[in-house]
Amino acid sequence: MSSNTIPSTVAISVKQAQQHIQDAVVPVSDGVYVNLHAGLNRVLGKDIIAPVDVPAFDNSAMDGFAFRAMDLQSCDRLTVVGQSYAGHPFQGQLQFGQAIRITTGAPMPEYADSVLPQEFAVMEGETTLVMNNVVVRPGQNRRRRGEDIAAGSKALSKGKHLGPAELGLLASLGLSTVPVQRKLRVAIFSTGDELRNVGQTLDSGSVYDSNRVTLQALLTQFGAEVLDLGVIPDDEAAMEAALKQSANQVDVIITSGGVAAGAADFTKKVMEKLGRMNFWSVKMRPGRPLAFGSIAKNHATEKTYVFGLPGNPVAMMVSFYFFVRPALQLLSGSHIVMPPTIRATATQAIEKKVGRTEFQRGIHRLDERGNSQVSITGEQGSAMLSSMALANCFIILEPEQENICAGDTVKIMLFDGLN
Ligand code: AMP
Ligand code: MG
Repeated sequence: MSSNTIPSTVAISVKQAQQHIQDAVVPVSDGVYVNLHAGLNRVLGKDIIAPVDVPAFDNSAMDGFAFRAMDLQSCDRLTVVGQSYAGHPFQGQLQFGQAIRITTGAPMPEYADSVLPQEFAVMEGETTLVMNNVVVRPGQNRRRRGEDIAAGSKALSKGKHLGPAELGLLASLGLSTVPVQRKLRVAIFSTGDELRNVGQTLDSGSVYDSNRVTLQALLTQFGAEVLDLGVIPDDEAAMEAALKQSANQVDVIITSGGVAAGAADFTKKVMEKLGRMNFWSVKMRPGRPLAFGSIAKNHATEKTYVFGLPGNPVAMMVSFYFFVRPALQLLSGSHIVMPPTIRATATQAIEKKVGRTEFQRGIHRLDERGNSQVSITGEQGSAMLSSMALANCFIILEPEQENICAGDTVKIMLFDGLN
């Protein structure tokens, strides 16, 4: 069934909702060249074909003596005739029965194929290396030219997330700039007549808008450019204006609030007027209501994707991590990368309703034997941000799971890496 044909009254699973979103998003195609240093946490925009061999020449993996291993079949002593230091290659021509001193990374002289580490070397005087007690395989402690990356081979693939290792690898190829996908532009706004900005005084019945602060942080951590549209009142015209205003400027619009039962009709109405909207009840807790749709951009075939997230702060965060973030990864030309899940022993009973996925907030620790244990952070209300702040992991309980007993094994996802 296509995502457009699911009636909004039918509840779908987390997996189905994730799949629908993934099927719908088309990655942005434009990229830019940036300075190598500025490439950190960006997505590689093109395959990188190595322009040179790394390493560029055969070199030593150890400090020691370089020679030809075959010579040891007929010599039990080698004459040390010079040295090759990193940055200062041996200038002469190595011959049968000879060796040179060599340091790590220094070029191997042409005739040599092996290195005896310094600590195994026995010298007789200044220039004689005693070799009768050593066994050397040809090629030992030699790094071959191009063994890390061969010239002409694909060094990194388009879509790769650039971290410290990737930037260093690009530097080892001599590249000073790197092609990256452009940053995603994301507009955010909150909906709710009760919401006030931090710094304002709270009048009766009002609450501070925390979601926009959280979302701004989540998106900054992700590496998106954020357009903050503030708080929009619970009003159809205001919502329509905010969506229209931002649709042409951004790739994604994320709203929070106004998707619960009654309010959803109104979000849905506006969205259907401007584009397309799937409004789902997702079988999960926290965060049941989820709106996902798109608006066509003016003068372009591209779309602006819209996520309507629940207003409850924890539900909003869970929805971001499990639906929005993977979509942003795909949109930015990358792959979906979630932190790995691990197994942990529950230290207490955990209430769980069959038929829905639950993302409970957990505290993971290692016991004295190094085994993973997890407890819940206490009250699990979807409005309680303190439980998110206390937690260091999600306990992910699958739809078929029932109440968990102390001692049961559960699946957890550590927050580290959810950025
Ligand atoms: P709603 O999804 O609009 O029905 O909101 C559900 C709950 O989340 C209500 O208690 C709202 O006050 C609260 N809420 C909605 N938006 C925000 C926000 N931006 N920051 C903090 N709480 C919010
Ligand atoms: Mg509301």
